[in-house]
Amino acid sequence: MTYVCDNPAEFADDALAGFCDAYSSLVTRVPGGVVRTQRASEPKVAVLFGGGSGHYPAFAGLVGPGMGDGAVCGNVFTSPSAQQAITVAKAAHYGRGVVFSYGNYAGDVMNFGIATDKLLSSGIQTANVVVTDDVASAPEPANRRGIAGDFMVYKVLGAAAERGHGLEEVVELGRRANAYTRTIGVAFEGCTMPGAVAPLFALPPGQMGLGLGIHGEPGIADVALPPATDLGRLLVERALSELPGTGSGRVAVILNGLGATKYEELFVLWKTVGPALRDAGLEIVAPEVGELVTSLDMAGVSLTLMHLDEDLDRLWLDPTVTPAFKRGEIPIGQGQSAVSVVPTNEATVTAPGSIPSQAAAATAVSLLRRVQATIHEAAAELGRIDAIAGDGDHGRGMVRGIDAAVIAAGEAALAHCGVGDVLAAGGDAWAEQAGGTSGVLWGAGLRAFGEHLGNDETPDFTSLVGAVHAFARQIQELGGASLGDKTMIDALLPFADSLEEQHRTGHDVVSGWVTAAEVATRAAEGTTELVARKGRSRPLGERSLGTPDPGATSLALILTAVGLGLAEVSE
Ligand code: ADP
Ligand code: MG
Repeated sequence: MTYVCDNPAEFADDALAGFCDAYSSLVTRVPGGVVRTQRASEPKVAVLFGGGSGHYPAFAGLVGPGMGDGAVCGNVFTSPSAQQAITVAKAAHYGRGVVFSYGNYAGDVMNFGIATDKLLSSGIQTANVVVTDDVASAPEPANRRGIAGDFMVYKVLGAAAERGHGLEEVVELGRRANAYTRTIGVAFEGCTMPGAVAPLFALPPGQMGLGLGIHGEPGIADVALPPATDLGRLLVERALSELPGTGSGRVAVILNGLGATKYEELFVLWKTVGPALRDAGLEIVAPEVGELVTSLDMAGVSLTLMHLDEDLDRLWLDPTVTPAFKRGEIPIGQGQSAVSVVPTNEATVTAPGSIPSQAAAATAVSLLRRVQATIHEAAAELGRIDAIAGDGDHGRGMVRGIDAAVIAAGEAALAHCGVGDVLAAGGDAWAEQAGGTSGVLWGAGLRAFGEHLGNDETPDFTSLVGAVHAFARQIQELGGASLGDKTMIDALLPFADSLEEQHRTGHDVVSGWVTAAEVATRAAEGTTELVARKGRSRPLGERSLGTPDPGATSLALILTAVGLGLAEVSE
């Protein structure tokens, strides 16, 4: 558990503040994360790591010459927002493009993906290297989670960029590093979130979780805790079982402690791991035994191997100096101080909307306020149903999202924006403030809804049907969920279909919306019978049976509130 803490909600932020103060010669805080204090003396590709906090030294501890140019730091175990990624990227960008690298988790994939699109459209070359090293998390490499293999990929990316390679080469080398990296982990005890009294997940006494994820995601099996020698052999055997050889016989190795497993324990394990790898005919290159990617105070270890070809070999051995990891010597940099290039949050300049669209914007803001009241009223219940198989934050997240959206949309309306820009501003604020999967999806969905309506025409039934489809498409594209996965999609698609049907059969917009919202409400209730296959509830999917999906439930409530609001407006 966490003994040193002020406000648990501020834990990640407080830790980052202390960290940046302690290592001020290397790292400087910017909105959304950290960047190097001194830029390199020559323009280079900016390599940015990121993800939730709670994994130190991943990610901010690995920023410095030879490794990261910056890190995007989310809350504990929560993906940073797309806006955070954009701000850090703009602060770190040094004229030759940006690479984001992160583990394969839904929230990170969505947020870094959105950030990439936005940076590209603002003229900054941006690419992504997703880490998928955890052999226990899925049979197909592309679907695997990223764990301690992050470190291998980050080292290669950082060294490649420091050598002056261009964006494409850096990305290719990073992806190659990922393709040659495999990790197997075991957990002895779950970690405890700051402020919490019980661990996030627990293991039966005397057992260890083989392949258990660093946030408690399911692994392969719980097995009796073996003696160190057997554990060492097991890890080597599993890590080697599918390592794609490069033919060189040389491997970079990390024996990683997850947080509560001490260095001496790791060395006891290495006593078996080192010789077992050599017995397998491998030459071990500059191994690291210690804490490189942790999970708060989780007890557990993981073994990571990266097969080296000539390029990867060189990059693995290149020098680096970061707060948490040093190899050889490298100048800290003589370039411009990062502080002078930190972007201010530039206001997006939007043209005023047409007069009819401004009127529609005012209606949109009043509908958002109605939704806000509904969400506040339902927040506790939404949290309760999310706690049954998820993490219990759905009510809180929706409240944060809608509160931010109402403020931002109201400001945009006061600035004479049309309805499209007002909803887009509301969506961006929602995504920025809400956190969680639903926040990203709602934010991006609302923006897509607004963009469809535009800032010239008065919305009518036809354009509303189109906007609802745009909303649904955006959420499906980002989240990848299908009908039956037990997500908000299960209420949203029936709603969109029903609304279209109502339009086609000549109903007016108010009665059409109200009817479609009733369909959504029944569909949300119907998710009670489903088992979650997406999102955070997935690991505990079976437990979700008998409880409706929180995201589908809140969506149905919102659609119903909007229907009531539309009826009032049209009177
Ligand atoms: P988190 O799951 O990150 O804690 P919330 O608790 O706020 O976020 O939201 C949970 C809801 O998000 C789920 O009930 C589900 O409706 C929705 N959700 C999760 N993943 C997806 C996805 N991939 N596509 C669509 N909706 C999703
Ligand atoms: Mg949740």
